[in-house]
Amino acid sequence: MKCAECGTKMNEVEKGPYHYVESGLDNVYLYGVTEYNCPKCKNKMVRIPRPFQLHIILAIAISQKEGHLSGSEIRFLRKEVGMPAKALAEAVGVTPQSISRWENEKEKQSESHDRLIRYIFRFMMQERLKTTINYLEDTLKQAEVVSFKNKRVDVNADQMRFISIPNVAVCECGASME
Ligand SMILES: [Zn+2]
Repeated sequence: MKCAECGTKMNEVEKGPYHYVESGLDNVYLYGVTEYNCPKCKNKMVRIPRPFQLHIILAIAISQKEGHLSGSEIRFLRKEVGMPAKALAEAVGVTPQSISRWENEKEKQSESHDRLIRYIFRFMMQERLKTTINYLEDTLKQAEVVSFKNKRVDVNADQMRFISIPNVAVCECGASME
C-alpha cells in the first residue's frame, strides 16, 4: 500500500476496531480492517474489505434492530436504497420537513412511522438486490456479523467474505446499476 499523498510505502498499524464515521453513523466500529500510516507525511488510510456489501449488511441489520431508529440510521437506510427525502416523505405520507426533522433528531418519529420506514426500506432493498432478502437476514442473525451493544454497533467486516450477496453491480457513488 502506497501513500496517496506522497507515494511512500505505508506501514500497517495494529489497532483496535476502526471507528467508521465515514459511514454517516457515529457509533459504528469495524473489526477486521487494516489501517495504514505514512511514515513521511503522516497520512492515514484504511482498507475496508468489500465496502458495498458492508453497507448493505449494515443497513439490513439496522432495519432489524430493536428500539427506535435514530436520525442518522433513517438517513443511512434512505441513502442505501437511493431514495431522496421527498420520495420517502411521499411513501410514508408526511412532509419532507418531517423527514428532515427525524433525520436531524429535532423530532422523534412515531412507532408506526418507524415501522413503515423499515418496510419501505425492505421493499426498496429487495428491488435493489432483485431477490428476497430473507436469507441475508437469517445469515446475519446466525453469523453475528453485526452486534448492537447499548448505543454501539460492532461489525466484523472480515466476515463479509463469507456472506454471499447476489450480483450487485454498484457505481462508485453507491447506486446500483443495471
Ligand atoms: Zn505520505
